[in-house]
Amino acid sequence: MADITYKSKINRIRTFALSLIFIGFIIMYVGLLFRNIGWLMLVFIILGTLAIIFSCVVYFWIGMLSTRAVPIICPSCDKPTKMLGRVDACMHCKQPLTLDKSLEGKEFDERYNSKKKRRS
Ligand SMILES: [Zn+2]
Repeated sequence: MADITYKSKINRIRTFALSLIFIGFIIMYVGLLFRNIGWLMLVFIILGTLAIIFSCVVYFWIGMLSTRAVPIICPSCDKPTKMLGRVDACMHCKQPLTLDKSLEGKEFDERYNSKKKRRS
């Protein structure tokens, strides 16, 4: 159980969006260090703002994904979680989950989500 480092997709995107906000603030902070050079400071502040705007877009995207995700009860921890695609991990205990019976018991592989793998 401790070996499973896989995170659920929604959690992963959420972490990404959150880190984007931090990156945005760091970029703006770096910009303030260059306040003697007006245009450089402006470039950093614009980049930082863009990162924060982009993270808002990502948060919006998570909302869209969540509505499409399949809500299930995790068989491992009995908590409600959401699945994206054919294979995903539980949000709470990171238990790999699949909607496809033919993949049950197989080694967990995110590539099962791709179309190429689906055909073979
Ligand atoms: Zn679980």
